[in-house]
Amino acid sequence: MQGHGREEENPGWDQESGSMDISVVIPSYNENESLPELSTRLKEVLDARTPLWEVWFIDDGSHDGSVETLRRLHAEDPRFKMIRFRRNYGKSAALAVGFKEAQGTYVITMDADLQDDPAEIPALIAKIEEGYDMVSGWKKKRYDPMSKTIPSKFFNFVTGKLSGIDIHDFNCGLKAYRREVVETVNVYGEMHRYIPVLAKMAGFTVSEIVVQHHPRKYGRTKFGLSRFFKGFLDLLTVLFTSRYTQRPLHVFGSLGGLMLLAGFLINAWLTVEWLMGYPVGNRPMLLLGILLMLLGIQLISTGLLAEMVTKSGTNVRDYSVREMLS
Ligand code: UDP
Ligand code: MG
Repeated sequence: MQGHGREEENPGWDQESGSMDISVVIPSYNENESLPELSTRLKEVLDARTPLWEVWFIDDGSHDGSVETLRRLHAEDPRFKMIRFRRNYGKSAALAVGFKEAQGTYVITMDADLQDDPAEIPALIAKIEEGYDMVSGWKKKRYDPMSKTIPSKFFNFVTGKLSGIDIHDFNCGLKAYRREVVETVNVYGEMHRYIPVLAKMAGFTVSEIVVQHHPRKYGRTKFGLSRFFKGFLDLLTVLFTSRYTQRPLHVFGSLGGLMLLAGFLINAWLTVEWLMGYPVGNRPMLLLGILLMLLGIQLISTGLLAEMVTKSGTNVRDYSVREMLS
């Protein structure tokens, strides 16, 4: 390891102590044809570094014979492990269960379809050892159809701007993490696209390196274009919940308060005019004033309700501890 003072935080790293060095987590949904080649190449790359590795294949409800292949791989080398979902739950659920099981100091995620290259693993880990908590792959030269690459550029641009994270490719399957990161982030729904955002919001450092990407050799993509639409809704959720889950009234209350105040001032002014003898019943301003006051009250009540919901969910953890001396 390069000296960065992180060793103390990872006392189990050295190989003599026998603790797991690398865990690879691979969500896989009907990728049977890719699995043999993928596992052979992974084994080469990992063995070159350490015998202390494990590969978790998460079979996400495949129905193409993947399970038999994975059972055979496990029988040949028990470091290839498998979790099989009862049905197709999606990539985020697959990553989440893999993150729960991963024992390694470093956790790598990659796709099962051979589009991600196992040969990149050492470079990803080297970047982490430079002192980052998480490193994301950047498919700079991408081998996917235009229908995917163009919306994806837009998606990455907006996500980068809104989250303030300076990377080019949020949704690359190939990523590396220190284990603390995967123990902390909560990946659910389709949030796998936003792991860098979730990690940064929790206080981890995020970096990226350019990785080699390959065209899909077997099978076909599991995501349609709807991914982009849903993706942006998820971004809204990520940004909103990471900032305001613990204090919803701050956002609803300030917006509602402003509206209420503006509406009140307008109507107060109209009241003065009315007292001075002008007719106000035909003034559009009256409607605006009433509208603003009603909306303001509604927003404030919504914020208060959200506060009550937040208070009742007592086990919501909204912090992540880095170090503790006691
Ligand atoms: N995947 C999964 N469950 C799903 C959809 C996809 O585990 O419901 C896996 C899939 O098998 C692959 C990875 O997620 O290993 C990425 O999927 P895909 O290659 O279809 O995405 P793309 O490369 O087209 O973005
Ligand atoms: Mg793919």
